[in-house]
Amino acid sequence: MSEGHREATRLIHAGRQGRRTVNPPVERASTVLLPDVESLYGGARAPYGRMGLGVHAELKAALCALEGGVAAELAPNGLAAVTLALASVLKAGDELLVSDSIYGPTRRFCERTLTRWGVRTRFFDPRAGARIGEHITAQTRAVMLESPGSLTFEIHDLPAILSVTRAAGLTSIIDNTWSAGVFLKPLALGVDLSVQALTKYPCGHADAFGGAVIAREAGTARSLAETAQDWGVSLGPEEAYVILRGMRTLVPRLKLHEAAGLALARHLAAHRAVARVLHPALPSHPDHALWARDFTGASGLFGVVLKPVETDRLNAALNRLELFGFGFSWGGFESLAIPCDPQLHRDCSWQDPEGPLLRIHAGMEDTADLIADLDGALDGLVHD
Ligand SMILES: *Cc1c(COP(=O)(O)O)cnc(C)c1O
Repeated sequence: MSEGHREATRLIHAGRQGRRTVNPPVERASTVLLPDVESLYGGARAPYGRMGLGVHAELKAALCALEGGVAAELAPNGLAAVTLALASVLKAGDELLVSDSIYGPTRRFCERTLTRWGVRTRFFDPRAGARIGEHITAQTRAVMLESPGSLTFEIHDLPAILSVTRAAGLTSIIDNTWSAGVFLKPLALGVDLSVQALTKYPCGHADAFGGAVIAREAGTARSLAETAQDWGVSLGPEEAYVILRGMRTLVPRLKLHEAAGLALARHLAAHRAVARVLHPALPSHPDHALWARDFTGASGLFGVVLKPVETDRLNAALNRLELFGFGFSWGGFESLAIPCDPQLHRDCSWQDPEGPLLRIHAGMEDTADLIADLDGALDGLVHD
């Protein structure tokens, strides 16, 4: 493949050279038969199904092409990819810096399991920029980033953070699920490991779990591969297949989610039941300039702070929605809306908003239908 091709082109062709069929065969295999007895212990790259089959190699190639990495490891879901990345860099006695708006289950892993392993976590304000240096001690080993933040959508000043953390010798990890690796290229900015929940946009159809960690250079790639091997982390071939199939259409699908998300965000920003919209591509977002500098687009996931309203009235309004589903996860073709206050845990960086916080995923239904559905629910919340 020519390096000069654009992303949509590269994602359609990545990894499939030399095969007559467009899609790879799905081998269902634990045992891999080797050509002779000498090969059992000598040389074959993946002598056992747990280490991956053809479809896994092709998915990894597509992910490396997407994120600009040298190597990738696959995991059974996004959370397992996050914990694999962290385990590949940390040891007892280390300290870890974690963005205060990190994905909730990542926070729980740090507070529960890493604490038990003798790793201390310090949470920092996602808007800290170079002030992240105030949290670095002689024990600090790594920094865990996520931009925009889960639920609250703050954007990191990545170059400012990385200039400080790299000077201090820290390994940096980012959860890049929101951008799907299309709208943000963290490895090119100097981040060491980029993690994605492939469950979201790469799969794109809400019907499979997967995760990946992509490494910028060989040293971190080696300890990542060893950690995956030691823990026996792997992804089933059927899942790898549907995620690879989803990745072929990732770029055009994201353009649809982006357009729908912006249309809904603009409409909601002008709605009388809404206090604020948390969408980094809107100029009203406090980190809009950082987003415009580092990202090339926006996915379909954003937040909405409503004006204060009692929970019963809010729930009655949301239950009037016909097209938006109530469900966790996102990144499929369908629109979703959930109240997030019960999920919100912050140590240092977020003041409780003036009203309830919703998270919206803009799917691929007709946008005018989605707007009418939101109005049908929210108009009832407006007092005259
Ligand atoms: C969903 C999600 C994950 C976890 O992915 P699963 O496949 O559900 O385990 C991790 N990080 C972010 C930002 C997510 O949205």
